[in-house]
Amino acid sequence: MATMIQDTPHSNEPPRVALQSLDSLWFQVAGTICNLRCHHCFISCAPDNDKFNFLSLETCKRYLNEAAALGVKEFYFTGGEPFANPDMCEILAETIKVGPATILTNATLFRDSTLDRLQRINESTPYSIEMRVSIDGYSAEMNDPIRGEGTFDAAMKGVQQLVDIGFLPIITITRTWCGDDGDVLATFRQTLVDNGYTRPRLKVLPSLKLGAEVARTRGYHDDERVTHDMMANYDPAQLVCSSARVVTDQGIWVCPILLDAPDARLGGTLAESLVDYPLRHNACFTCWSFGAICSNVSTAATSTTDA
Ligand code: SF4
Ligand code: SF4
Repeated sequence: MATMIQDTPHSNEPPRVALQSLDSLWFQVAGTICNLRCHHCFISCAPDNDKFNFLSLETCKRYLNEAAALGVKEFYFTGGEPFANPDMCEILAETIKVGPATILTNATLFRDSTLDRLQRINESTPYSIEMRVSIDGYSAEMNDPIRGEGTFDAAMKGVQQLVDIGFLPIITITRTWCGDDGDVLATFRQTLVDNGYTRPRLKVLPSLKLGAEVARTRGYHDDERVTHDMMANYDPAQLVCSSARVVTDQGIWVCPILLDAPDARLGGTLAESLVDYPLRHNACFTCWSFGAICSNVSTAATSTTDA
């Protein structure tokens, strides 16, 4: 019988993925600090989790300059909750001088001043700004047991606020149900339309069996690993680590998924991080199974709809 473990590196030499080109740069802009404490959060973000801290405007500018020199094409902001970082809007304003940006948010922390600033930034840039809003069900009954009481109503209000200032947020839903996605997506879409978001975009993500999710469901089985055979006819471009890196307050990590893995730190500069990486973690199995789970790009395995 397979043993259940949270995440243990391979002892045998695993397949390695080369960085084909550094197309995307992620900023762990809120570290692991979040106003919520979701039961499935794969890096266990919470108001009191400062294992990784906020990125400063100066730090972001430094890496934006290095990214521009390296030809990075797009930027992502995550956490934790990006808008918990008081510098988020200033950081975004600097970023869109260099390229398009996506912010992954729970949409529960928008002040009027934040929305005003976002609207002005969005209307002033030739680059696109995408908002990805996490909601894990089409009702409070479905969402709130995972994300916390009142979070469904708060996030739906946040979606409406974003729509009102001109965004078409991508609603990202972690797959916590059994069975077909079709009914869930249809009901979700109708709920959003009924709430005034007439052109909803939805993306379903697999759960990563790390962090808080281990207690909610399970950790990885020890046979959930990427092998050399599995990579034989596989396009590594589907893996985020083949084209992205993530900036944290403690250096550059290989991807936003492995923050808790010390061996995923690749250096202090982007130049130092341009190395290949062994797929030694169990979470790599989820990436291999589902493809581009972090980026805005959809794959056959991550359900995405644009109405
Ligand atoms: S899943 Fe997102 S909103 Fe929930 S605790 Fe983690 S970072 Fe915060
Ligand atoms: S977790 Fe995914 S993105 Fe990170 S190193 Fe493994 S395969 Fe690459």
